[in-house]
Formats: sequence, structure tokens, C-alpha cells
Amino acid sequence: MHFHLTEVSTNTKTGPIPVATISNESCPTSCPLLGAGCYAEHGPLRIHWDAVTKRQKGMEFEEFTKRVRKLPRHGLWRYGQAGDLPGKGDTIDPEQLIELARANQNRPVIVFTHKPPTENNLGALREAAALGFMVNLSADNMAEADEFSDLGESVVVVLPLEYARKTRGKEWDETISAYRERTKSLPKATPKHRRIAVCPATYTDTRCSECRICSNHQRNGVIVGFPVHGTKKLRIKTG
Ligand code: SF4
Repeated sequence: MHFHLTEVSTNTKTGPIPVATISNESCPTSCPLLGAGCYAEHGPLRIHWDAVTKRQKGMEFEEFTKRVRKLPRHGLWRYGQAGDLPGKGDTIDPEQLIELARANQNRPVIVFTHKPPTENNLGALREAAALGFMVNLSADNMAEADEFSDLGESVVVVLPLEYARKTRGKEWDETISAYRERTKSLPKATPKHRRIAVCPATYTDTRCSECRICSNHQRNGVIVGFPVHGTKKLRIKTG
């Protein structure tokens, strides 16, 4: 496992905050986005991620946690703009996750995991949460979002393509009012009536540094939705 920390990101979605990238062996093999719609598998982020995976950039875990300890004391940061929690594939390495949580020292952080909530993984996530390192579970559809929420975890969900504002290259190809009109009848709640809020960075120029909702785990059970990315969008099961 290899780690990279960019002190001030140029990622237009996150805004200028510190951002960590983790080598791709941290990604769960069960992730349906792997090779099929993961936003990190395209463009400049893919090039950066590949360099971290090949150890051409970045550092070992111990050095990474030292750098995390030195981040601004109350500043927001993003763990995992590409890659997942420590641990190969579907597993979480509990010792490393706890070490990371300790290094974080309660800083506000945006973290998602696509690793499955097995008993061992949930145990590690709950220990980390008790230390102030709160992770959002990524669900692949609305029913799974309910399932994960029933575990008492903060949840985000992949949404079908219809929820995405149309783009052409890097430009919007749909006005915001046309987008709102087109999507107003799409479901905005899970089968168990939990509210879905579409990530504003996916349809406006808002950035995580301004929005911060994914670092807030007291968000009244709101599930943040991300319209599917990538070139093989239709392979994602969304129902
Ligand atoms: S919902 Fe907000 S904090 Fe979460 S990814 Fe989108 S912009 Fe960032």
C-alpha cells in the first residue's frame, strides 16, 4: 500500500484542500465501479493515481501518518480522492485505520469507502469513528443505501446517469434550470424514505471546501448521491 498527500489540491471538485491518494490495491475487488465507471480511472487523476500505485510518487504508511499529523489543526481534508482505506481489496487493515484515525486528531475529513461492511470492517470503522475519523459507506443503489443506513453508518450512494447534469468536455451542456426541470420528478428518497441530496459539485461549481456535507456525520440521515461517472455508465446497477 502506498500513499500520497497533496498539500493544496488543484482538484476542481474538492477545492484547495489537502488531498490523499492511495495505491489501487486498496480498492475493493467487489467494487462495481472498478474498470466500469470509477471517476478516478480517467484523465489527469488516473495519471497521478497510476504513479502512486507504481511507487513513483508518495510514501509508505508510517511517513503518511506523520504528514497527516502535521496538517492544519482544524482544516478540512480529503482522504482518498482515489483509492480506499488501508487494507488490500475488500478488507480494512484495522491497525492502520486506527493509526490513521489517531494521526488525524479529530480534523474534519471527507472519507468514503467502497469496502463491504463485513463484521470485521464495521468493527474497525466504529473504532475509528470513536476516535473522530468518520467514514461514509458507499452504496451502489438505493436499497443498499437503506441497508447500510440501518447499520447506523453515514452513507453515500451512486445514482443513475439521469441525475447527472449534462456536460460537453469540461463545460456544462445544460442550463441549471433545464437540469432542475429535467430531474425534478426523479426519486429523491430511498425506499425507506431517507432523503437523497445530490452532491452539488456534480451540477454546480460548488466545491467540497465550501459544501463540507460529507465531513458532517450529524446530517440527519441525509444520504449524499453521486451520479455515476465514467465511460461505461450503463453497467452500474442502480435500482
Ligand atoms: S456533497 Fe459536498 S462535501 Fe460531499 S463530495 Fe459533494 S461537494 Fe464534496
